[in-house]
Amino acid sequence: MDAAARATLIHARLRTVFPHPEPALVHHNAYELLVATVLAAQCTDARVNTVTPGFFSRWPDPSSLAQADVAAVEGVVHATGFFRQKAKNLVAAAKLLMARHEGRIPASMAELTALPGVARKTANIVLSNALGLNVGIAVDTHVRRLAFRMGLTTSENPVIIEKDLMPLFPRAAYGEINHLLVLFGREVCKARKPRCDSCVLDDICPKLGV
Ligand code: SF4
Repeated sequence: MDAAARATLIHARLRTVFPHPEPALVHHNAYELLVATVLAAQCTDARVNTVTPGFFSRWPDPSSLAQADVAAVEGVVHATGFFRQKAKNLVAAAKLLMARHEGRIPASMAELTALPGVARKTANIVLSNALGLNVGIAVDTHVRRLAFRMGLTTSENPVIIEKDLMPLFPRAAYGEINHLLVLFGREVCKARKPRCDSCVLDDICPKLGV
């Protein structure tokens, strides 16, 4: 079975396991999802969700965040780790949003990745979940691990992995593919002990590196 056929089966079967895949980061608009996704680097979504309500009550939009004291932002995001870099990037990104986009979240990969601290993964998550645009597939630690194990890529480079994955799935499902692989990676195809014996993909997965 080639990678394209395997990908089609993987997509169909994971949809039966997770019929309503949704992002775990709580958000109400593109700005909130952008901030939450930046904070989620090297941190669990659950922890980010404990921090963002306080963050958004103080800085509900790019305008307020652009004027924030970086030290105050550091204090609020401290629990998410790498807090100095995250706070610095978030305030700088808000300033750029005000200067270039009148405080709106731009709907393009190039403009999003021009923001400090925003790489393709974050941009893809914001574009597909908050702006309804399936430009690429967000490759995080789960997607990276599962794509390799499932034989959908031979690379460990997120940019190359995304390029390998994109032709294998329908464009309209790019956002959903990220959610499905993340959920499956958390619950079944775990980093240390993948549960191959109870996995719905057991018969088609090459289990590379497992
Ligand atoms: S068979 Fe094992 S390695 Fe393959 S997807 Fe399932 S849990 Fe992961």
